[in-house]
Amino acid sequence: MKKKKLKKGTLDVDTLKQIVRGIMSSREDEIDCGDCFEQLDHFSELSLAGKSADEALPLVKQHLETCPDCKEEFEVLLKALNAVSSKGG
Ligand SMILES: [Zn+2]
Repeated sequence: MKKKKLKKGTLDVDTLKQIVRGIMSSREDEIDCGDCFEQLDHFSELSLAGKSADEALPLVKQHLETCPDCKEEFEVLLKALNAVSSKGG
C-alpha cells in the first residue's frame, strides 16, 4: 500500500461547505421521536448493562441530546429498568 501525500492547508471552499453542512444539519443521519422511542428500550438496556449504548445506537444518543422530551422519556425508562433489575427478577 502506497501512502498518498496530502497537502496541508489546501481545503477548497466546496469541501468546507460540505463539512459545515454536515455539522449544521446531519439530516440523513437523524431519527425522529418515533424512531428514537422504538429504540429507546434497547438503548436503556444497553446503558443499564454497562455496555456502550452510545456506540451501538449513536443516532438515539444524538437524538436524546437534541430532544428534551425523549431525554426525559429515556430517564424515566432507565429508572424503571433499574427498579426491575434491582429486584433480581
Ligand atoms: Zn424526540
